[in-house]
Amino acid sequence: MTIFWHRRDLRTHDNAGLYRALRNETDVLPIFIFDKNILDRLENKADARVEFLQNEVSRLANEYREAGGAMRVFYGKPLQIWKKLLEEYPEIEAVYTNEDYEQYAKDRDFKVAKLVEGRGGRFRAYKDHVIFAGDEIQKKAGGPYTVFTPYMRTWRAKLDERISTMVNDEGKELKVSFYLKPYPNRKYFNALAPTSKFGKKELVVPSLQDMGFEPGNIDIPPTEVSRELIKNYDETRDIPGIEGTSRLGIHYRHGTVSIREKCLRAMKLNDTYVNELIWRDFYSQILQHFPHVENGPFREKYDAIPWINDEDHFQAWCAGKTGVPIVDAGMRELNETGYMHNRVRMIVASYLTKHLLTTWQWGEAYFAEKLLDFELASNNGGWQWAAGCGTDAQPYFRVFNPESQQKKFDPEFKYIKEWVPEYGTADYPEPLVEHKFGRERAIATYKEALNGN
Ligand SMILES: Cc1cc2nc3c(=O)[nH]c(=O)nc-3n(C[C@H](O)[C@H](O)[C@H](O)COP(=O)(O)OP(=O)(O)OC[C@H]3O[C@@H](n4cnc5c(N)ncnc54)[C@H](O)[C@@H]3O)c2cc1C
Repeated sequence: MTIFWHRRDLRTHDNAGLYRALRNETDVLPIFIFDKNILDRLENKADARVEFLQNEVSRLANEYREAGGAMRVFYGKPLQIWKKLLEEYPEIEAVYTNEDYEQYAKDRDFKVAKLVEGRGGRFRAYKDHVIFAGDEIQKKAGGPYTVFTPYMRTWRAKLDERISTMVNDEGKELKVSFYLKPYPNRKYFNALAPTSKFGKKELVVPSLQDMGFEPGNIDIPPTEVSRELIKNYDETRDIPGIEGTSRLGIHYRHGTVSIREKCLRAMKLNDTYVNELIWRDFYSQILQHFPHVENGPFREKYDAIPWINDEDHFQAWCAGKTGVPIVDAGMRELNETGYMHNRVRMIVASYLTKHLLTTWQWGEAYFAEKLLDFELASNNGGWQWAAGCGTDAQPYFRVFNPESQQKKFDPEFKYIKEWVPEYGTADYPEPLVEHKFGRERAIATYKEALNGN
């Protein structure tokens, strides 16, 4: 028997690891583990991301069932589940999965691989979550890029290095980069372990309630995005008051869409969108090469900044009550929908780390708790960029002026009025920190701390 372990790849189509398992092996049993180590840390028991996962895993199990295949879903600590699984099925010869580059996941996989190999089995992991992983894009002289533009150029050149042919849905032959070629998994579904091998009870998917969670009231964006939206993306992406971005973040994060498929489509429609997907790979490889960023600044001298870390200011920022309308609109959008527009993420992050001189790590943790599309590498990269301490970061002396940003990107107050209805009335507070004062204080504080190091 072979196990295919789904994690951040909750789909059966164009799935690299699943394809290898189905092609190379027989009797392939897909599994998923709701990880208690992660779920126990979530304070909000109506966390929309858990509901999303539970729905998607149930959908996946149904999809397999309809094709005659079984899927087993567990709730617990991965290592303990694996120990039980290997005892229950001593005939397991191989485990296939897709790579996960976060440190927690790497440590977990290392331990599971040792368990499997200790019993004479094989553990195989494949690239699926990104187009190019860590070592695939290197500087000419070797080593990882830490600046985006040259990384992006090499990324694009590598994509063109290997061209292969594929047949599209209409039976037409197309030339595509080998790296974007889809995996035709469905063709090999006959390698799935049949449902008849398992008892009914074994095939039950744990419910939200079984895991101590309940449904939230947050809508999940669809997996399909109109052609028009991607086509106009470069013109609409910076305007928070309109639906000008794809909102696919949560789907990229959990693999409910294929990154290759979306990239291939975007290449025909809008190059700026492709660039954003390259940013995603860029931050992923930063996390792979510089794991210290998870716990501190990429540029270590930024550790010297004497953050004020005023708890009341931080709470006002979280609640969208800073008295700065574009910041408050963004934070309220996040609190109510689990989403915040990218332009506004940059503005609120700048306001927190510069005007309020609050550590980026508090903001990063708040986003991690609230964002539907939370992705450690991109969130960390975005926060370090805003605070000036990351790779290719905004220099510390460039401090966003929230008012100029609003004039440029929300000139008619459409976005602000949607989220801050009391703006312009006596109920709306004065800013916690005025722009001129905040800007000068931030520059002086950063300058002094960095010059001393
Ligand atoms: C402070 C801060 C925190 C952020 N936290 C996250 C996070 O936790 N998860 C996350 O996916 N993105 C994060 N981003 C990047 C970006 O804001 C989101 O990817 C984007 O807003 C998601 O909306 P969308 O799906 O409509 O994106 P679109 O504009 O439609 O872009 C398409 C996809 O490209 C990728 N992408 C776009 N911009 C970036 C970027 N700057 N860096 C990396 N990938 C990008 C995402 O996967 C996104 O879904 C953060 C940015 C900042 C400034």
